[in-house]
Amino acid sequence: MRKAGLLDKKPLTATRKMLETARKDTGTKKRTGAWHGVVTYTEYETRYYFRAMESANKEILEIDLFTRRCLAFGQTGPRFRIFLDRGKEDFASWDMVNEKWSNAKIDMLETDDDRYNYTYRGRNYATKETLNVVNKYLDTGCMKDVEMAVLDFQAGVRKIELGKKHKLITDVIDSYMNMVPDRLPADWMKFINDRVLEHSVFYTKDTRTGYCTHCRLHVPVPTDVRHNMPGKCCQCGISVTYKSWKMQKHTTYRTTAAILQKCTDGVHYVYRQFHVDMYTKREEYYVPEIVTNENQRSLFLLSNGHSIMGSLKHYEWGEFRYTGIDRWCDEGTGNHGAYRSVCFGYERSVLYTGNIRKLLKKTSLQYVPLAEIVKSMGRERINVLKLIDDMETGFPYESFWKMGLKRFVQEYIKKDHNSQTKIKHLTGKPKPWELLAITKTDIKQAVRLNATDRQLRIIQKSVGIGVSLTDKQVEWFDKYMGVHMIMDYLNVQTPHRIIRYLREQTVIEKYAGSLQHNEALHFWTDYLDMARQMEWNLHDRSVFFPQDVKRAHDEAAAAFTIWKDEADAEKMKAKDEIMRGNAAEIRKAFCYSDDIHMIKVPECYLDFKHEGNAQHNCVATYYDRAVEGKCIILFIRKKQNPDENFCTVEIRSDEGKFSIIQNRKAYNMEAPEDAKEFMETAVKEAQKIADRMAAEEKKRIRQKIAG
Ligand SMILES: [Zn+2]
Repeated sequence: MRKAGLLDKKPLTATRKMLETARKDTGTKKRTGAWHGVVTYTEYETRYYFRAMESANKEILEIDLFTRRCLAFGQTGPRFRIFLDRGKEDFASWDMVNEKWSNAKIDMLETDDDRYNYTYRGRNYATKETLNVVNKYLDTGCMKDVEMAVLDFQAGVRKIELGKKHKLITDVIDSYMNMVPDRLPADWMKFINDRVLEHSVFYTKDTRTGYCTHCRLHVPVPTDVRHNMPGKCCQCGISVTYKSWKMQKHTTYRTTAAILQKCTDGVHYVYRQFHVDMYTKREEYYVPEIVTNENQRSLFLLSNGHSIMGSLKHYEWGEFRYTGIDRWCDEGTGNHGAYRSVCFGYERSVLYTGNIRKLLKKTSLQYVPLAEIVKSMGRERINVLKLIDDMETGFPYESFWKMGLKRFVQEYIKKDHNSQTKIKHLTGKPKPWELLAITKTDIKQAVRLNATDRQLRIIQKSVGIGVSLTDKQVEWFDKYMGVHMIMDYLNVQTPHRIIRYLREQTVIEKYAGSLQHNEALHFWTDYLDMARQMEWNLHDRSVFFPQDVKRAHDEAAAAFTIWKDEADAEKMKAKDEIMRGNAAEIRKAFCYSDDIHMIKVPECYLDFKHEGNAQHNCVATYYDRAVEGKCIILFIRKKQNPDENFCTVEIRSDEGKFSIIQNRKAYNMEAPEDAKEFMETAVKEAQKIADRMAAEEKKRIRQKIAG
């Protein structure tokens, strides 16, 4: 808006009536909220006061906005001067306090009377004349409140401006969308029908025929046909589910299909994703209605061994910014977040393979049998963009696939490129078996088995500890155990013996799939773990394979507890020696006693542990700190019964100054008054002694230097 001249005229001033009304509007105190958060606030009658005047040529309308607050303070000038230009569809507001122009709409003007602690009954003040002037100028056709009339006008102006802004955004999107080829392959619908959709044969028992949704023919059905029975259409050979006319009135099926194409700029590639819906209804004789909707496009670049993720741009079909217009939008904006999947661009789809070989020609992926791999996965939806990225960044699909590890590759893709099998990151041109850290012979075994991910992991694990399993053994572990911790012992006893024991003693084959319920297996692995730690001779078959697993486990557990205590005690010895030295020093200072109380200084871990157990506190955990001299732990005892626990005290010494941190009875209860007084005196006495000792020490050092 052209601002020149607008401020030449003086603003309107508050009338006496306005000032009076504002002064009388003193507000009512109100409370709101529940018991845990009551808020009090003041409610006023009126927020804004308006006056309006037209410019001499009637082109511009000036509306002056006064706030209750300013008027109540007796200020007669407006807070804002709002100028509207209906002809040019424009507006601007002059901030009287900050002396600057604002392009904000009336609802966004900073009038410094936020509503945090008070509110208004919603009425704005304007005389009938003012209302008349405003509504007539804005041609509202009614008597709108001034604030609403101004806001409606300004919102209208902004929408026009927004349209111009939107054009900038849509132009950018369109420049990309225009690069996407117009056409889909001629056999696109055939692909949807053959490879994407799941089909049915709707049959009636009496006629022994059914309608196949794939070949759309009436075909004979097997004599033993049942509702929901899987089978194959005898006409077209596609896998179908038999559905009874009586049982199934209608079906709906939704899936996702996709195609990769080269963009018309010759550089970008596009992943186009379609929602595919198939509906069938009995009253329409189950003739399928197939609807495809393209809902996502992702553009990317292939750049020879680099991740495609950096170049990815996602677009989605949806409503553009609440305009009511459906079109391509930037990712996450089209459906206002409503349908946005958790990981955008990671949706799974069945990929069209007819064009892939040509598409990847002369790219770094030209030798990867992508089409073959994708095709082998049938109707399984896969994460196409992740797969391409994975191929670009060097997962050796090509060599694994070509060697014959097909099931592994398929599972790897299915599991979203996560595998149990450990794959090494090696630079250069590593051989496939090097990536798996196994030998050429081992990988031959894997190929022989067409190993799954888990079988490959089992081979890897046994190779890792230097054991070769037979094909049968790999399959046995896969079927009944998976990669189980028992495999850690394959180099201690032979796999053959271990499997035999598992079969006989833990009847593992009965428990397949629910190993956690197999108590015998649990006892055995637990037993082996304890035996290993205690360094029992596991190479001795009678030790490794106990006759009675449960009894062996319990006996080992008892032995283990004793062994562990002894092992800990061994470690403690060295620390206790230091602690004893500390205790001797501490005792020199903390030697105070009165008629009733005395101090005991703990000098080994057992002292701490016994005190902790008897007093039900955690003083034992202070042991290490006490050893390091970070704190001083003292026990108060009664002279008549020095063996009975009474109070536990923590003292800290800060640059030679003692202070009591804690003084507690059992269960962390506060010490009785007399015990507290006793300890305070004891600390004072100790301080004197310590200070004297320090002084003597200094003197001694000084003499030493002097001498
Ligand atoms: Zn058929």
